[in-house]
Amino acid sequence: MTMNIAILAGDGIGPEIVAQAVRVLDALKSDGLDITLEHGLIGGCAVDATGEPYPEATHQLALQADAILLGAVGGPKYDALPRAQRPEKGLLAIRKALNLFANLRPAILYPELAAASSLKAEIVSNLDILIVRELTGDIYFGEPRGIEIRDGLRVGYNTMIYSEAEIQRIAHVAFQAAQKRKRSLCSVDKMNVLECTQLWRDVVEEVSKDYPDVILSHMLVDNAAMQLVRNPKQFDVIVTGNMFGDILSDEASMLTGSIGMLPSASLDSNNKGLYEPIHGSAPDIAGRDIANPLATILSVAMMLRYTFNQEDAAQRIENAVKKVLAQGLRTRDIAGEGFQMIGTRTMGDAVLSHL
Ligand code: NAD
Repeated sequence: MTMNIAILAGDGIGPEIVAQAVRVLDALKSDGLDITLEHGLIGGCAVDATGEPYPEATHQLALQADAILLGAVGGPKYDALPRAQRPEKGLLAIRKALNLFANLRPAILYPELAAASSLKAEIVSNLDILIVRELTGDIYFGEPRGIEIRDGLRVGYNTMIYSEAEIQRIAHVAFQAAQKRKRSLCSVDKMNVLECTQLWRDVVEEVSKDYPDVILSHMLVDNAAMQLVRNPKQFDVIVTGNMFGDILSDEASMLTGSIGMLPSASLDSNNKGLYEPIHGSAPDIAGRDIANPLATILSVAMMLRYTFNQEDAAQRIENAVKKVLAQGLRTRDIAGEGFQMIGTRTMGDAVLSHL
């Protein structure tokens, strides 16, 4: 099977970290995996070249690919552009265009990095949570939306909206993910205030009838935000809507100490996926060879697992990363006392040497 992968490096540190992930893909290719890579533009670099953050050529490339590896988009240079031209619009557009409705974000704390967390080691050591976030609906896409003048005053408004079909399909993804783990799923909503999320809770309950082997619980989002820092290990899989998932998954990622470590997958109903680190384009450190490429390299492992069913190759990458950490090699974001601080490319070298 040929694996057609589109590479969209994006802006800021995107090209630096994606370059290291591409080296990993090249190494797997040399070992016999049938991989083809094609590069395209997204985000600010696409705006510079074409005037649009998600140009048609990139859309065609993404449609033809089996999977997409993305770095990150955005930067201060683009902040003053009209909203439709902002790099982040490119990200929302590709998610929507490819119907990537299921965002899987693991928050795993490697024991070697327990000291990097801002929480006590005993609260986070061996943390292993999977957040399943709905990605193409909710208030981020709901209409009507806008800013307008009413009675002489500016008002801003958005619409939180979910159909039962949208809730059903993300619930199925979450229950199936839970079946592969500890069979425990917590659905997060705000049903005490928002009708939209009352429907969310009702539909998740209905879908749970198909998964009697998974224990379902519900939690209000404000409590979930608190429980994540109080006792995060109570969770196995969390499923939630787009906006709550955006916030909770960032919170969960910080439990692990560095957003430079965490990969993500965004899948359609056929497991075609967009894989990317959870962090942004980090313009503050771009071009200095200090960004952590491990989240992007681990995104390749997720790609091999979820889109290509290459579990062995996925584990090869994850084990190589574990060995690099065990060896004491660290990029600046995860470095502590007593560790050897290395740059982006040297981290790529280290992963390749253990692959
Ligand atoms: P950010 O994630 O880019 O950076 C937050 C902090 O984490 C910064 O101090 C940065 O240096 C650090 N950091 C991030 N990734 C790192 C890595 N791999 N190694 C070491 N340190 C790392 O978030 P931000 O500063 O809020 O946003 C910067 C730009 O990125 C903005 O334009 C924003 O819109 C965009 N953004 C893009 C995405 C995406 O492409 N998926 C996600 C979030 C933000």
